[in-house]
Amino acid sequence: MTVFDTTLRDGEQTPGVSFRQDHKFAIARQLSDCGVHAIEAGFPASSPGELESVKAIAAMDLDADVCGLARMMKADVDACLDANVDLVHVFIPTSEIQRVNTIKKSPEEVVAATRDVVGYVREHVDSCMFSAMDATRTDLAFLIEVSRAAAEAGATIVNVPDTVGVYTPTKMLQLIGTLVPEVPAPLDVHCHNDFGLAVANTVAAVEAGAAQVQVTVNGIGERAGNADLAQTVMVLESILGVSTGIELKRLVETSRLVSRYSGIAIPPIQPVVGDNAFSHESGIHSHGVLANAATFEPGIMTPEMVGHRRRLTLGKHVGRHAVRQMLADVQLEPADAELDRIVEKVKAIANRGKRVTDADLYEIAETVLGLEAVGRRIDLRDIAIMTGTHAIPTASVRAIVDGAERVAACTGNGPVDAAIRAIGKIVPLPVTLKEYGIEAISGGSDAIAHVTIAVEDERGHVFDASSSGDDVVLASAEAMVNAINLLSRAKQE
Ligand code: MN
Repeated sequence: MTVFDTTLRDGEQTPGVSFRQDHKFAIARQLSDCGVHAIEAGFPASSPGELESVKAIAAMDLDADVCGLARMMKADVDACLDANVDLVHVFIPTSEIQRVNTIKKSPEEVVAATRDVVGYVREHVDSCMFSAMDATRTDLAFLIEVSRAAAEAGATIVNVPDTVGVYTPTKMLQLIGTLVPEVPAPLDVHCHNDFGLAVANTVAAVEAGAAQVQVTVNGIGERAGNADLAQTVMVLESILGVSTGIELKRLVETSRLVSRYSGIAIPPIQPVVGDNAFSHESGIHSHGVLANAATFEPGIMTPEMVGHRRRLTLGKHVGRHAVRQMLADVQLEPADAELDRIVEKVKAIANRGKRVTDADLYEIAETVLGLEAVGRRIDLRDIAIMTGTHAIPTASVRAIVDGAERVAACTGNGPVDAAIRAIGKIVPLPVTLKEYGIEAISGGSDAIAHVTIAVEDERGHVFDASSSGDDVVLASAEAMVNAINLLSRAKQE
């Protein structure tokens, strides 16, 4: 099974997204390194800048094939050839509604243009993908005719796009099953997610014999987007046992990279890569997972497989087993009666609608166990921020670290980023920032900011802590320091 990624093309069609050039390079590199077979880098004929961008990606010497998009016209193909792509993707509308209203060509003219332009592509490059745009709303006999014509003219792969996302898995199974014996080229699908069926339709196409899938990272794309790479690949690999060649362990990092560069957040409940994808809160579930992870996680997809982590969260449904486990991780071993009191207090906080962080749990446990609060390794004394329309955001921090004063300054993308980086500089141990969340507690510009931060140590253990205040930079810095103190404390014990 080959995986064809259109994150760069479809991402640019996503409302509000315009990737920076260096970000496009980073995404292309990441996808290729993860084993994606082909990357559609853009539409060279659309502008001189786009041509240069596709050319630069084609020159990166990636393992993945680099593809350029072209309308069914030689001038567009020439722009792709100028960009030195490995593969040219030509498309033409084939449904009556699009044919009559956009290109104003008869079916005969569509077939003639396809033969002519696909043949022209193959005079210059070895690989050509043909797309019958709006295939799923195209008369079946005509779809077969134009797809055959493309294959006979030299198309090395024939794409069947569900351009407006109106198909269902059953229909896709029938359509691809019908096309496979009729079209003398491997088939590919490009499914849109308007009804939430993009991944299901893509998987159905594979079951019916498609040889390639088109996907985007995080499912980004115009309107409701496209089939998601991580979900499609995991269904193929884990449920159907189809090998994709994708390095599964890098799915989460790839998703986060594209989320950061596209500015489109990943919903917590996003399958495979979302923050909650492997989180367990309720007592019965976390008890089961601790006894045997396969109780509430299908063994065919574990967090480790996709580069994620299993997480037990504290909430109103939390059970004794989960709390005991979380405390054992920092060498706190309450007796049964003490554990009951700790769980009771955790539930009381959660019932007020507040997120219970690790820091809250340890504080509760220390109180119940009558322990002295363990000393803070880092004590933030001062923080100064400079930012403005023309100034690079810069933060300087002064803190007492292990009894000695330390000072550091850092620039960042914004004041919060600068502050967190500066704190990172004075920390005497390796720490990675895993999550940063902020919510406004009241509605106005004077809202109290509640910042939650999770940091990870080099063993992959994650600790979260929070802080609130009317100064978002200060709250962020305090939350970061709180989280690092927890991490270093767990390390000492
Ligand atoms: Mn599309």
